[in-house]
Amino acid sequence: MRALIRFLFLLAVVAALVLAGAYYFAGRAAGPQIEIHRPTRLLGRTGTLDVSIQAPGGRFNDVTVALTQQGRTVPILQLLNPDAGGAPPDPRTKLTQETGDRIRVTHPLDRQTLPGLREGAAVITVTAGRPVLFGLRTTASSADRRVEVRLTPPKVSILSTHHYINHGGSEMVVYRVDPPGAESGVRVGQLQYPGYPATGAGVQADPTVKVAFFALLYDQDLNTPIELFARDEAGNQSRASFDYRVFPKAFRKSRIDVDTRFMERVIPEIADHTPELSVSTASADELLKAYLVVNGDLRRKNAAFIREQARTTVPEILWAGAFAQLGNSQVESGFADYRTYYFDGREIDRQVHLGFDLAVTANVPIVAANAGRVVFADYLGIYGNSVIIDHGMGVQSLYGHLSSIGVKPQQNVANGREIGKSGMTGLAGGDHLHFTMLVDGQMVSPVEWWDPHWIEDRVLRKLREARSRPS
Ligand SMILES: [Zn+2]
Repeated sequence: MRALIRFLFLLAVVAALVLAGAYYFAGRAAGPQIEIHRPTRLLGRTGTLDVSIQAPGGRFNDVTVALTQQGRTVPILQLLNPDAGGAPPDPRTKLTQETGDRIRVTHPLDRQTLPGLREGAAVITVTAGRPVLFGLRTTASSADRRVEVRLTPPKVSILSTHHYINHGGSEMVVYRVDPPGAESGVRVGQLQYPGYPATGAGVQADPTVKVAFFALLYDQDLNTPIELFARDEAGNQSRASFDYRVFPKAFRKSRIDVDTRFMERVIPEIADHTPELSVSTASADELLKAYLVVNGDLRRKNAAFIREQARTTVPEILWAGAFAQLGNSQVESGFADYRTYYFDGREIDRQVHLGFDLAVTANVPIVAANAGRVVFADYLGIYGNSVIIDHGMGVQSLYGHLSSIGVKPQQNVANGREIGKSGMTGLAGGDHLHFTMLVDGQMVSPVEWWDPHWIEDRVLRKLREARSRPS
């Protein structure tokens, strides 16, 4: 009997020791892994907290985030049991399940969530716990992010005067931004056109002076807001309005009749050069379908590719004087021609033609409309053999339907340098040059760029005035 009592007592002691050990070691188990994505280094007037938290099974029982500055700690958010499916306590907090083990928490950082925030150093601390030992204990971990708080937005203001913008056309501004490292330019509706240091336009001014080319696209409303913008590294933003006048332009409407013979000539060639395009031309039905894919989808894909070429631009104006129109050419189509396509007398498609079709005779030399650097020289979908020349600060020119290309990418070309011969490659009904100007990758009317008065008044005058401005 006594032996049994002793045995039971021993058993109880061992069990208690095991439990105490388990409790002790559970508390020492690693807490959740915390990764702070944002803010990185700087925190502005508005920012985003972006954190990932990882634990086995995605089980957390406490997540808190706080900011400490000059000995004062401000709570940003607290999540209790986010894994239990409870709604986040703050509707601005967004939770996403990244994997079974990992959640992502985002929350705005602004004057509302961080009242009393001051310029200078601060630390963001994220703490997270997870249940261990059947929920009897919690093991926690934390991560810090040191940030510098900057609350002063950049200053931006216009310097140039008399801004006139034709619908579908371009314009230029000279402006000042401080600090000069802030990202800045002109915003036209949803589109942003970057500014470049004015030294790249021959203006020996202080680094705060910038030049930006921008456009009001043919499909943007005449009342689209146009303003200067600036955004610093910490995300602080500012804007400034400037005086401008917008002039409507009448865009032509035209009818294009396509027939089987035309489709049989152009579609197999385009398909051969465009492997990602999976179209069949085996039957008349399929040929028409293929034509519509080329005229619609491929046209849009080509436009997206052309927009990307803007990233290759250099921050200096490489051109001088008016751009040259193809010599002795017959203008066959204007800019932003609204085309309705007919096959067998029925309407099959509608597209807008964004360029000028210039015809002379077959196989004539095509020359660079102004000085620049070749950034693309290859087959480009509906444009066939094409060349894109960068003239700097986002201004580029495109030449399409060439029979042969005589230049290579990265090659500098002088004004008037031959870049190829005209032809009818791509979606072309006959031998002609498809020519368009681009501003930050957007197709704009070349008529202005051909006009020496426009060049003088819209660009050169403003640069001259900026040069003579006392700094
Ligand atoms: Zn064309």
